[in-house]
Amino acid sequence: MNKFCDYKSCQFNVKQPTIEQRSKLTKVMCPLCMASNYCSIRCRDLDWPIYHKGICKKNQPDRAKSCNDTMDSSSSVSTRRKPEEFEIITIGSKQELGRGSYGSVKLVKDKSNGQLYAMKIMNKRQVFEYCSVENLKREIKIQRKLFHSNICKLYHYFEDKENVYLVLEYAENGSLFHYIKKRIKLPENEAFVYFFQTCLGIDYLHKNRVIHRDLKPENLLLDHEGNIKICDFGWSAESLTEKRMTFCGTYEYMAPEMLNKQPHDFSLDVWSLGILLYELLHGNAPFRGKNNEELCNKIKSGQPINFAPTLSHEVITLIKGILKYIPSERLTMDQIFEHPWMIKHAASFNIDIYTFVYKPQFPTRQIPSINFKTTTKPIDIQKKESTLRPLSSDYTKFKTQEQSSNYKHYSEDNQIRQDEFNKPRISRISNKNEILLHQHQLQQQQQEQKLGFMDRVFLAFGCLNRDKK
Ligand code: ATP
Ligand code: MG
Repeated sequence: MNKFCDYKSCQFNVKQPTIEQRSKLTKVMCPLCMASNYCSIRCRDLDWPIYHKGICKKNQPDRAKSCNDTMDSSSSVSTRRKPEEFEIITIGSKQELGRGSYGSVKLVKDKSNGQLYAMKIMNKRQVFEYCSVENLKREIKIQRKLFHSNICKLYHYFEDKENVYLVLEYAENGSLFHYIKKRIKLPENEAFVYFFQTCLGIDYLHKNRVIHRDLKPENLLLDHEGNIKICDFGWSAESLTEKRMTFCGTYEYMAPEMLNKQPHDFSLDVWSLGILLYELLHGNAPFRGKNNEELCNKIKSGQPINFAPTLSHEVITLIKGILKYIPSERLTMDQIFEHPWMIKHAASFNIDIYTFVYKPQFPTRQIPSINFKTTTKPIDIQKKESTLRPLSSDYTKFKTQEQSSNYKHYSEDNQIRQDEFNKPRISRISNKNEILLHQHQLQQQQQEQKLGFMDRVFLAFGCLNRDKK
């Protein structure tokens, strides 16, 4: 019998799949050597620690090298991929998958093997102009060494004269942000799926000493099966023991210690997880304001938050346990995984949470990825299957009427405009206007520092220019 899948214990190597099963299977390659082919992500991930890890790269050294593309100009150019090796694919009239602060994200096909990727193209001039070289370096350094089924994989990176290119795992269903905006708010069982997968990714990051620092639905992508892929590592930090000080993130998701300019650690991401769970269930973040100042004041005030009356008592205790003002009082990742609400929903999907939680003592890819589509579910969940699958066409049917009424219901302030509500939130504090303002203030300060006492007196009387001339 022909080998169907490179994972030796794959059921389809014993009994070939039926035509119907075949149509549901996706071809998956080992992203490092591109030499092994699997019938599913699950088989690929199971094969890695047992067998493939030992032989990977050795078979195809050239390919393997190309995965370690470097922006260091001293390295041999021949090991690097080039933009011409990828063909840009347009979907209908859409030229790009999305736009970020520094350029666009396009769907591309690797001409050598037909594999689809998302290519983030960042204009160098823009990157320098916005002072974000450090962010870009950090994004690449951290993301290239991460390997988890809920983290968007960075496969290649290279540059040409004008741009820097990141070749990323393609997340077919776009961002969770747009999905929530279409769905308005999610039922608890569906919110569990996204929340749990995000927790798995964040827990993996923390166990690898990485703090994401900009967790929000805009940075959570959905793959072809609706699985979460955490992306955008521009603000993440590697933290060994010391606390971090950089002010970064997105206001709605910022923890009080960040806003109070106090040192922060891994519990910063835990806070954002609490905001995420709230937003999944309500359609908006718990703290909102007419402007950033009002929003920050609300977070800093530590005032209690309102919950929808229809929510279960368990999920409210979970959110409250996470959104503790004092970081050391917040639930830990383990306590979140052990929370009764998590256990209850995991049981309804017939899964054991700890099978999926990353264990540092084992090789990185020993943890299987969850496929909620194929997981055996109790009858009542199976009936709701369509609500568990985030595929866009169904969701356009939702009425805007429902959207606005829900929105008003949970928003404390009706003056917050609907169009603002639907816009992705900006994460970079260092956006252009703020940088320009900052530069202006700095120049002013420097000018003032150059002036002597008498100059400053003249300045105060408005006669400095004349006298200086
Ligand atoms: P910002 O700083 O504004 O968050 P950014 O420069 O970091 O932007 P990303 O957030 O990484 O850019 O990407 C911008 C958009 O492109 C995303 O919101 C998403 O819609 C799309 N996108 C990014 N990466 C992928 C991917 N791997 N697969 C599919 N779409 C993607
Ligand atoms: Mg982003």
